[in-house]
Amino acid sequence: MVAKRLSTETYIQGILAQDRVILSRAITLIESQAPQDQLLAQEVLQGVANQPTNSVRIGITGVPGVGKSTFIEAFGNYILSKNKKLAVLAIDPSSVRTKGSIMGDKTRMATLASQPNAYIRPSPSRGSLGGVAHKTRETITLLEAAGFEVIIVETLGVGQAETAVKNMTDFFLLLMLAGAGDELQGMKRGIMEMADAIAINKADGDNLRKAQAAQAEYQNALHLFPPHEAGWKVPVGICSAITHKGIAEIWNWIEDYVQLTQKNGYWYKKRQEQRKNALHEHIAQRLQTMFYTHPHVKEQINILESQVIQNQISILQATEQLLSVFLGK
Ligand code: GDP
Repeated sequence: MVAKRLSTETYIQGILAQDRVILSRAITLIESQAPQDQLLAQEVLQGVANQPTNSVRIGITGVPGVGKSTFIEAFGNYILSKNKKLAVLAIDPSSVRTKGSIMGDKTRMATLASQPNAYIRPSPSRGSLGGVAHKTRETITLLEAAGFEVIIVETLGVGQAETAVKNMTDFFLLLMLAGAGDELQGMKRGIMEMADAIAINKADGDNLRKAQAAQAEYQNALHLFPPHEAGWKVPVGICSAITHKGIAEIWNWIEDYVQLTQKNGYWYKKRQEQRKNALHEHIAQRLQTMFYTHPHVKEQINILESQVIQNQISILQATEQLLSVFLGK
């Protein structure tokens, strides 16, 4: 629960006036599970929705260790040099475990965080729970109302979170490593198919040649994929978050993509579709919560569940019985 709430109007005016303290407090409100906070959050969202924005939402994914935070730092500073206001929804390191150890308190994106035109918000790991995706989407709305022109949503390249982030961003960048051994295995295929661009990071020092080889390999592999819906040719590049090689080129890809898709209409169509899908997702989630928290359903569900397990009644029968209870029939 949010410790101290402000009035709806204070949140709204603060966000529109680009007050970061109030913005942060409003995001905390959105993330809160407490019913009163959620009500207030919805009012705030209503109050700032429909602000004209020309933001670009970029999803960035890659397995732990690929160099996401180092890359976002370099890339983010480059974006700032183009006089853009940048917000990053970063992975909260304390929410991630890699090989048994917590990513720790390692300060992520420290030089970016100190820039006046950058705003970094570590968020709970995304997509793991249905509701988190929704909250991230609402947070993006607040950031845009607060004048941020480029929004980066960082995600771990390990699961369903990618699909959730792909569905709330305009451009999806996949960071990869050369020589990780499993270049074209099925696991990566799915995520490669979602990418609007692929960059092989750590293309520096001894690793440069390997990165170039991987680049050629991925370029070939992409020929086997269905063409991109926007009529866009998915670029494969190499970059180094440390030497900053390739960083400007990646930003150029995004500018080209925005130009192409705004011209051919794909940009707007995709955003409309994303909103439509978000509506249906939200309805489904609300119904699910209402169902599972319904007192009579809660009473009955364990009994019916064990009857299903024992094969005493069919899944269909159990479902129908629970729905009758839920609908008060
Ligand atoms: P994340 O887990 O994907 O956020 O990865 P990090 O940004 O924390 O980077 C993991 C490690 O790779 C760190 O030790 C970085 O210094 C290193 N790293 C990141 N990018 C590069 C790069 O472009 N070149 C080299 N040589 N190392 C890099």
